[in-house]
Amino acid sequence: MSWLSKVRNSLGNLKKRDTPDNLWTKCPGCGEMLFTKEFEDNLSVCPRCQYHGRIGAQQRFDQLLDAGYGVLAAPRVPENPLNFRDSKKYSDRLKAARAANVFPDALTNALGAIEGRKVVLGVQDFAFMGGSMGMAVGEAFVEAAERAIAENCGYVIFTAAGGARMQEGILSLMQMPKATVAIRRLARAGLPYIVVLTDPTTGGVTASYAMLGDIHIAEPGALIGFAGQRVIQDTIREKLPDGFQRAEYLHAHGMVDMVVHRKDLKGTLASLLGYLERKEVA
Ligand SMILES: [Zn+2]
Repeated sequence: MSWLSKVRNSLGNLKKRDTPDNLWTKCPGCGEMLFTKEFEDNLSVCPRCQYHGRIGAQQRFDQLLDAGYGVLAAPRVPENPLNFRDSKKYSDRLKAARAANVFPDALTNALGAIEGRKVVLGVQDFAFMGGSMGMAVGEAFVEAAERAIAENCGYVIFTAAGGARMQEGILSLMQMPKATVAIRRLARAGLPYIVVLTDPTTGGVTASYAMLGDIHIAEPGALIGFAGQRVIQDTIREKLPDGFQRAEYLHAHGMVDMVVHRKDLKGTLASLLGYLERKEVA
């Protein structure tokens, strides 16, 4: 090895050791370089511009639930029922997504409590195939709603999705009425169903369970809509207003009940569950 490559190697090692890829995070909101640890300690919200970063199920559970919660087992559903492939096999896409994520599909539920109020908490994770709704998501939703009924508590779901999982075709669309029936059962049991819309919630998820809550909360800046902005613009041939399909716009137009900063979510959810829980009337 020449002296030059020796120096290069040692420089290479130095670089690797001192600047791991995830030490800094660039805020997508303001472009500021943030120390990743500080960003995460701040609930993955930018301290400078309050941009709310996308987070997964495990972080949500840890941020919101009291200690001692239990993650519900993922339902077993047929995989790749249409034997679908585009540029890759759907089963290979699933395998890759599972290798890159903590949980086996895009919706994960846990049974626990928020400030002492018992709840089933569901979190849809955009990092898992765009949070897309297929059979596994639909089945997890139904099982969570049934568990809430069995436990006599509310169901709170955090939505994040690009829409239906195209690789499951009509079977993914069938999850929309299925989830709707589960919500109806919760209502019949007199139990609250609360939706927290997070960035981004779009497509078939917005067309079903994301918009059927007793109360709709949204995180600041979240993109919430059915069709994309460009599609709408091209259809109606009109320029859309600033902030269209953002949480604040939907709140101003009556589609969302409140926009809540991530640091206030825990307290807000605990209060709402308290107001809505079943009380025996003497
Ligand atoms: Zn920022």
